[in-house]
Amino acid sequence: MNRDGACTSIWQTHNNEALISGRPQAGIVYDVIVVGAGITGVTTALLLQHAGKSCILVDAANAGFGTTGGTTAHLNTFYDTSYQMMIDNFGEESARLIAQGARSAIGLIKSNISTYNIECDFEEKDGYLFSLTEKQNEELDEIVSAASKLEVAIEFSTKNPFPIPHLKVARVPGQAQFHPLKYLTGLLLAFQEAGGTLVENCRVTGIKEGEVLEVQSSLGVIRARNSIYATHIPPGVNVLHFRNAPYRSYVLGVKLKDDEYPAALGYDMDDPYHYYRTQEIEGQRYLIAGGEDHKTGHEENTEESFRRLESYVRTYFRVEEISFRWSSQYYEPTDGLPYIGILPGHGSNVYVATGFSGNGMIYGTLAGLILSNLLVNGKSIYEKLLSPGRIKPMAGFSNFVKEGADVVKHLVKSVFPAEQLHELSALANGEAQVVKFEGNIMGLYKDDSGELHAVNSSCPHIKCSVGWNNAEKSWDCPCHGSRFSFDGKLLTAPAVTDLQKVDLTEPKTGN
Ligand SMILES: Cc1cc2nc3c(=O)[nH]c(=O)nc-3n(C[C@H](O)[C@H](O)[C@H](O)COP(=O)(O)OP(=O)(O)OC[C@H]3O[C@@H](n4cnc5c(N)ncnc54)[C@H](O)[C@@H]3O)c2cc1C
Repeated sequence: MNRDGACTSIWQTHNNEALISGRPQAGIVYDVIVVGAGITGVTTALLLQHAGKSCILVDAANAGFGTTGGTTAHLNTFYDTSYQMMIDNFGEESARLIAQGARSAIGLIKSNISTYNIECDFEEKDGYLFSLTEKQNEELDEIVSAASKLEVAIEFSTKNPFPIPHLKVARVPGQAQFHPLKYLTGLLLAFQEAGGTLVENCRVTGIKEGEVLEVQSSLGVIRARNSIYATHIPPGVNVLHFRNAPYRSYVLGVKLKDDEYPAALGYDMDDPYHYYRTQEIEGQRYLIAGGEDHKTGHEENTEESFRRLESYVRTYFRVEEISFRWSSQYYEPTDGLPYIGILPGHGSNVYVATGFSGNGMIYGTLAGLILSNLLVNGKSIYEKLLSPGRIKPMAGFSNFVKEGADVVKHLVKSVFPAEQLHELSALANGEAQVVKFEGNIMGLYKDDSGELHAVNSSCPHIKCSVGWNNAEKSWDCPCHGSRFSFDGKLLTAPAVTDLQKVDLTEPKTGN
């Protein structure tokens, strides 16, 4: 499977050739179009198809192309937003509901695996949270005490299966892990078996609203009564882009010399935190270790983020080989809870699910339950709490637009002299830079063969200037997280079009 970056995740060795991508049927009005075939879209589409709704599931690239192909697939009963924060911000009953949501999501994953016989390396494990400082001790005390109020099992422990010096440890029973792309493929096969249509390489660019929606896509207009944006962040311009901040996180897949692979899921309490687990791929075990998160587009040297993570891992584990390394994106919601329901500013038949932090295996699955209930039964117990229309800005939610992020204009010229740009940028092969040339700002990338590629660095979403991500070889927007390949092809929403390519005249050669 392809993914939205140049690095290869540990999951991408999975072969999903059994999946057949179809075409939208002309003349059909589908009950539901689900846009985006990650865990959210696929879970939702399967539930709806089984509930008797005719569904078409489209993806701009391929199933698993987004963060579902770059996750680490820990299945947790606790979240990045602590239960104490949920109690403080939303009240104890709401926090209890979200705790129940995690149990329901893991329950649905287990029942899908058994109903559809999905071989996806699912294993139940304990999780361990460990503090490294006195301040983190206090936070851990708070986590354990809030969890006990909500009857979420978390207890202090004397052992930590992770070889990392720590002060206090809490054990969280009933966690799990799986291979996300094997699971996704299993759900998709069940969806197709139930009569659902999967269409890959079909980008949705807009919706003309009405009782029957006319969904504009790269394969023409698709007509449906309801639409669900399961695109991780909705495409186009929406208030939700100002209530979710895009972040990137870094992951290594590591072979160990001593075979001391941890048999549990683990998390330290740094900010950003490190996370661990073990995964076997084709008979070989790997330690998966992640962390070094930062706001998208706010670090130019993303190679450095990998180096820091590697150095951290080498400090505590006996590394034989770094076999995989990749990074991926997630969205941090303003008030700590996801947005699942009707897309603000749209009719009551356009839905969305976004703002999952690092918990989208759980929230994406829960979104499937919520959205299918809303569409089939007209209600959900989570409807009010997770409404995308809620207004609950939180103090302390830092402005996610990079300070001084440039809003740049369209290029005034369409063709530029390659020779001068080569000189101006002085790039080595594999390097990139945003340059200013005669009042125009553009992104230049010199590929490994020395060829220069130029793009207008103005993000087509709302015109912030993109920056280079040297590890994933992509242009990333610091404002709302749209990402583009080195030559401007759109990788991730909210933008719906490519970066404008800039034509370069070749230097005159010879006499
Ligand atoms: C490094 C990392 C580790 C993580 N680890 C965990 C973890 O251990 N546990 C956990 O619970 N969560 C984890 N998460 C979060 C979780 O992986 C994500 O929240 C989840 O995968 C999001 O799934 P999704 O289906 O909503 O979006 P995605 O998987 O991103 O899928 C969205 C799909 O929509 C498609 N799309 C976008 N725009 C369009 C369009 N206009 N038209 C058509 N298709 C479109 C894309 O191609 C993509 O395939 C992690 C995240 C990161 C970054």
